[in-house]
Amino acid sequence: MTDADCRLGAPLTSSFLTSADRLQRCPVDDVPEVCFVGRSNAGKSSTLNRLTGSRSLARVSKTPGRTQLINFFAVADGGRLVDLPGYGYAKAAKSRRDAWGRAIDDYLNQRTNLVGIVLVMDARRPLQPFDAHMIDWAEPRSLPMLALLNKADKLKQGARVQTLRNVQGKLGENCHAALFSAQTGLGAAGATDLVRSWLSTAQSDAD
Ligand code: GDP
Repeated sequence: MTDADCRLGAPLTSSFLTSADRLQRCPVDDVPEVCFVGRSNAGKSSTLNRLTGSRSLARVSKTPGRTQLINFFAVADGGRLVDLPGYGYAKAAKSRRDAWGRAIDDYLNQRTNLVGIVLVMDARRPLQPFDAHMIDWAEPRSLPMLALLNKADKLKQGARVQTLRNVQGKLGENCHAALFSAQTGLGAAGATDLVRSWLSTAQSDAD
């Protein structure tokens, strides 16, 4: 790691590691992981690209056949980012949607590597049923969560403040909400710092 990489807000430089279609195929080790969840089209891939300073890292998750997989990215500083399949992809057959649900459920409920969750929402439509479900699920587990209100560039300043306040009012203690734009970089420095701190705390706890 160079000094430049240590600076606050530096991207989480990462590279694609592997994909898994179910929990049993995930890497077997104790490397800490932060997973990314969100409804399809909320901007999860764009968010991963922004936070890793890459133009195309998460494109791999969009290539046909990989859309339904759990994708693992190794962070150069240590730890992993995990892209869970987007929820509610309209074109998928019901049986495949159910399989995604199982893979997500198994990962979230059984993956001991998991140290934090980034929930990507569209700031214009936050707290949809899936989002609320994720927040309710994480709360009793004391898993730290970062709820990103993505596409904030689409909102005027007043609406941004109002949306952030509304969402914050509905979150528990373990969940932090932030205005974000994968497109403009708004909120990116704070988000990378938080994710990096989760990963490094978990690594130093393990040492
Ligand atoms: P995913 O399905 O959740 O992975 O979503 P994508 O990252 O593919 O983004 C879905 C669409 O939203 C694409 O057309 C993106 O260009 C767009 N998008 C993503 N993030 C932003 C953002 O911060 N602002 C704006 N205006 N558009 C965004």
